[in-house]
Parts: sequence; C-alpha cells; structure tokens
Amino acid sequence: MLSLALSKGRILDDTLPLLAAAGIEPVEDPRSSRKLMFDTTRGDVRLIVIRAADVPTFVEHGAADAGVAGKDVLVEHGGDALYEPLDLGIAACRLSLAGKPGCMNVGRRRLRVATKYIEATRRYFTDRGQQVELIKLYGSMELAPLVGLADVIVDLVDTGNTLRANGLEELDHIADVTSRLVVNKASMKVKHAPLSALIADIERSVNADG
Ligand code: AMP
Repeated sequence: MLSLALSKGRILDDTLPLLAAAGIEPVEDPRSSRKLMFDTTRGDVRLIVIRAADVPTFVEHGAADAGVAGKDVLVEHGGDALYEPLDLGIAACRLSLAGKPGCMNVGRRRLRVATKYIEATRRYFTDRGQQVELIKLYGSMELAPLVGLADVIVDLVDTGNTLRANGLEELDHIADVTSRLVVNKASMKVKHAPLSALIADIERSVNADG
C-alpha cells in the first residue's frame, strides 16, 4: 500500500486531475467529504488530505510515503529530509513583497515585515544585507499594512486581485512557486518499485498536461 498526502484547497483542485490522468481517482470526492483518508480506484494507493503546511511533516515521518506540497511550504519546512523528484507545475503563483505606495521609506528605523513565510523572507532580506523586523502571521497578511501592524508584507500572489483590492502594490518578485511531489526517503528504499512506478505515472500526466 502506498499513501499519498495531498494539500487541501487549491493544490487539491489541481492535483486531482493529474492523479486521475495517472489512473488514481478517490472513490469519494475529497472536496465535498469530511473524511481525511480515501481509498482510490487503484487498490494499492490511498490518499490522505491535510493542511498544506502539514504535508512535509507527514511525509518526513513516513505517515505518508509521498505527498504534494507547494514550494513555499517546503522552504518553510526546511531541511533535506525529503526527496523532491517532480515539479508538478500546478498551483503556480509567486512569492512577492508588497505594500502601500511609499511604504519602504521608514527612515532610520527597521522595516516591519508581516508574513507567514518567515524563512523565505529572512533569506530575502539577509541576501540584501537589510535588517528588518519580522512579524509572523498565519493569514490575511494584506490587512497588516492597512492597520499599521507592518510596513510591507511577503505573500503569495496569483492574479494580484487581493493586493489591488486592498490598495497594495507588488514591490518585488521574490520567488516562483509551484507544487512539488515529495517522497519519504525510507519509503523510496523499502517500496522502491511501486513508488518509482507511481512517480513515473504522475510524471507522464504532468508532461501530457504541459
Ligand atoms: P490573487 O488575489 O489571485 O493574487 O491570490 C492571492 C491570495 O491567494 C493570497 O491570499 C494568497 O495567499 C493566496 N494564494 C495565491 N496563490 C496561491 C497558491 N498557489 N497556494 C496557496 N495560496 C495561494
């Protein structure tokens, strides 16, 4: 049995068609079910559906053999405990610095940056030799500059509609983000043949899709 951990939300919407093209379809639609574990049309593959940020943890500890997670989540998780054999090219967006016009002019004090993406943001400002004050948030980053919690934010941007709706502008494009297939290292040894076959099946779906 192979267990595959999927991220809830927009990654799930993009992953299910890729898996279906690889012959793996959940017997019940995870988008409308409260269940967290699903059998599939392939008797040897089971899906678990969890919060995006938890996917690397489940896979790292072998609670799932493989998983699908955004590069943003993988960078925050850190370390090299996972294999990352495939860029699925789905849920594409970018990690960007954004704020109100003129927000970078803070004089001699440190820029205050609100983000869920502490590691990526720390790296970005360290590379620029700029000391900033990082403020960890779990969501609704766009609100922070509007209520004076931060000068700027670092967040995922897709269409730019959310930034525009809140009067914010994109100041810098920090990184491109897509979802990746990640694999548990021990599973790759112990279940090498079925896992390699699964990766190859998914890779074919990705290539057919592109
Ligand atoms: P948009 O208004 O299309 O630019 O989307 C921005 C909002 O959607 C922000 O709140 C982001 O955090 C979120 N978002 C955009 N793309 C993704 C993605 N691929 N995965 C998760 N969240 C995303």
